Amino acid sequence: MNDHPFSLSQRVLNLKESATIAMAAQARELKEMGKDIVDMSLGEPDLDPPDFILNAAREAIDKKISNYSPVPGLPSLRKAISRKLKRDNGLDFEENQIVVSTGAKQSIMNIVLSLINPGDKVIIPAPYWVSYRDMVQFVGGKVISLSTSIESDYKISPLQLKESLNKDVKLFIFSNPSNPSGMFYSEEELAEFAKIFSEYPNCLIISDEIYEHLCYDSAHYSLARFKEISGQVITVNGLSKAFCVTGWRIGYCAAPVEVAKACSKIQGQFTSGANVIGQYASAIALEEDPQKLKSMVNEFKRRRDLFCSELEEFPYIKFKKPQGAFYLFMDVSETYGKSFEGQKISDSQDFCRLLLSSAYIASTPGAAFGTPECARFSYACSEDDIRKCASRLKTFLSQLT
Ligand code: PMP
Ligand code: GLU
Repeated sequence: MNDHPFSLSQRVLNLKESATIAMAAQARELKEMGKDIVDMSLGEPDLDPPDFILNAAREAIDKKISNYSPVPGLPSLRKAISRKLKRDNGLDFEENQIVVSTGAKQSIMNIVLSLINPGDKVIIPAPYWVSYRDMVQFVGGKVISLSTSIESDYKISPLQLKESLNKDVKLFIFSNPSNPSGMFYSEEELAEFAKIFSEYPNCLIISDEIYEHLCYDSAHYSLARFKEISGQVITVNGLSKAFCVTGWRIGYCAAPVEVAKACSKIQGQFTSGANVIGQYASAIALEEDPQKLKSMVNEFKRRRDLFCSELEEFPYIKFKKPQGAFYLFMDVSETYGKSFEGQKISDSQDFCRLLLSSAYIASTPGAAFGTPECARFSYACSEDDIRKCASRLKTFLSQLT
């Protein structure tokens, strides 16, 4: 029974809360209560943004940059993005193909709203980033999820792609490197996908490249670079991760002109241009040499190596060493059926809940990413926290009966 006289829309009632955001909120609450929480829930760099982006934001304030920007973004930023896509990714996008939004999250939602009618089919390989599925379902799209496993490095095969595509599929969404698996499709693997996608020119592809700089063992390659599908790929990226400015909320997409126009139309009704101080600073930051981000990348690589070595030979868990992003995706399914202090672990939600309440480690259940045998740990936290996590996890696992 409601205790209020109004009712919420069916649309919002059907929408699940973002699992990453929900776990982060729980961790925050416990921290405020004075608990010593190791927070590995949210994918958020704990490093300071580089000075050049901070100085550029100060400059924007000093210049009193404060008006609404054009809806798809400041011309200086769209130019900088176009140059960045050429310089770093070998992509040719004109400014009128680029739309800047309030984070890559909004870019993806704009695209989904622009393309998907109720009943339209969208392929999303699992594990997928939490919000993809819910965004598609919100607009009535039909999600076709492709399953993977630790044996396939949580990656789909060309055969899986071939067998799942047909002329009714409107959209394919993936992130590379992947959130949550940390796995990475190489240029050679993408080339095979490109060949297959080219047989379905009506299927567009969202290539979410927000972790492009965080590739530890090999170079990132943009899907849109394959000429045979360059008109089908919508490249999504943003400043949040590469420049450690998650709260500034600047993301963008580079898309076929008609899609870019549609995204801009939607944004013009829902939010308008993104935060103008962030846009101004982003335009300056994107002109910088990406080599300047190297120390951040090396820092996350060090943490990855530390976390993996700390977790070696733990009972009940399996994982592959992540190749990119800052997530370790752990198969915890061997704990299902076991109990901790009389409380049974039946699934990834139970595992993460108990880990939080008893070991004070915040992680995110794999079910939220379409892979219920796993839990995700973000190692974008201090080395100290990484060590604490490993030692508490070891104790937790040793107490399972
Ligand atoms: N895509 C992926 C794969 C992500 O992990 C995130 C979370 N940061 C986003 C998109 C959204 O990023 P933002 O909105 O902060 O730009
Ligand atoms: N993308 C980050 C994550 O996966 C931030 C949280 C979010 O935007 O959902 O943890």
